[in-house]
Amino acid sequence: MNILLLGSGGREDALAWRLRQSPSCDRLVAAPGNPGIARWAECVAVDPCDPQAVETLANQIAADLVVIGPEAPLVAGVSDRLRASGFAVFGPSSAAAQLEGSKGFTKDLCKANGIPTADYVRVERVSDALAALESFCAPVVVKADGLAAGKGVTVAASREEAEQAIRRAGDGPMVIEEFLQGEEASLFALVDGEVVVPLASAQDHKRVGEGDTGPNTGGMGAYAPAPVLSPALERRAIEEVVRPTARAMVAAGTPFSGILYAGLMLTDEGPKLIEYNVRFGDPECQAIMPLVEGDLAALLLATATGRLHQAPPPALSKQHAVTVVIAADGYPGTPAPGGGIAGLEEAERIEGVTVFQAGTSLSGGELVASGGRVLAVTAVADSFAEARARAYRGVDEVRYDQGFCRRDIGWRELQRESA
Ligand code: ATP
Repeated sequence: MNILLLGSGGREDALAWRLRQSPSCDRLVAAPGNPGIARWAECVAVDPCDPQAVETLANQIAADLVVIGPEAPLVAGVSDRLRASGFAVFGPSSAAAQLEGSKGFTKDLCKANGIPTADYVRVERVSDALAALESFCAPVVVKADGLAAGKGVTVAASREEAEQAIRRAGDGPMVIEEFLQGEEASLFALVDGEVVVPLASAQDHKRVGEGDTGPNTGGMGAYAPAPVLSPALERRAIEEVVRPTARAMVAAGTPFSGILYAGLMLTDEGPKLIEYNVRFGDPECQAIMPLVEGDLAALLLATATGRLHQAPPPALSKQHAVTVVIAADGYPGTPAPGGGIAGLEEAERIEGVTVFQAGTSLSGGELVASGGRVLAVTAVADSFAEARARAYRGVDEVRYDQGFCRRDIGWRELQRESA
């Protein structure tokens, strides 16, 4: 089949790498792609958020499947437009993408369907938000509604801090919610209407600094699977959180289709939903793709065409994968522009290592940095410890003077293993 992949980050590089290996993939085109993705796909300079331009390209290549990597094209209605024109699209409609786009929508859906999540109040004005604080004890969480790339959330240790966050956010839709105690884990499931097929679990590292300190980022590293999400907990999360969500979306007339990424807090009472994302996580995708066996393209096509129930369940290797992100100095603030990158071939000579590219471009034939998160060095091995060791050996081969990485990716797992 001919596949069009939208996006240009490390997540899309991992998807392209994996799709390229799928027996049913004949032609892979990426828009716009990046120099890493160009190793597996033809890259075309088309804006993935421009529905008209994407549709024209899909027609030109007679796409049998369009895979949408990031959230922005979903929110921009690209999937709606393509579906209306008869294309098979892996990615939800803009109506179903509300599960990520509106925290209030998702909280209300949880409440109406008895899905475990933090207690909350939705408010529209600063005065109501301040009044709502009365019914919560510190710590308390203040969330601006809408897509805020992780910057709209304050976990306030005290009531004063919560008041400051509310005043800073100003009038507008907000959710005030109970603080959940526990460890976070991500669960990824393919969803096609009411059909739910678990794919993988992972844990990421949101903070920029070692020991989970400093500002939030898009993610500095990840590993898969997340052993903390035991098979029993994963079953509970599917049955108590993901499946009722899929049913509720069908009942509302906005069935979900694509990958549903549940951000979970593993509390003493069981898994509770923190948030949904409606696409693969970045960098979790880079850790999951090397573990997915079989024909990924066929699986995504089955999901996109309402045939997931007939598809053979995804096979996941028993190995472990660890991804370490190398970011440009200054990230998540203003990243240092440019800066030559070398050593990727040496890194990939290490067994199990693949270097996915995120913010890279070519300048006079040289690979240079052109974004915040630049590379995602990924390694697989039979054990978590070996995968981690290989990933850092890969990192050490990379020559990119203006970049940095966290040296403690997977610290929770290391602690658990040495306990
Ligand atoms: P992102 O998409 O970057 O994860 P977001 O803006 O969608 O962020 P959330 O995922 O809802 O926001 O929250 C961001 C982080 O804040 C969570 O990963 C979690 O660490 C913390 N957090 C959110 N809600 C709670 C809660 N109720 N209890 C404890 N921690 C929470």
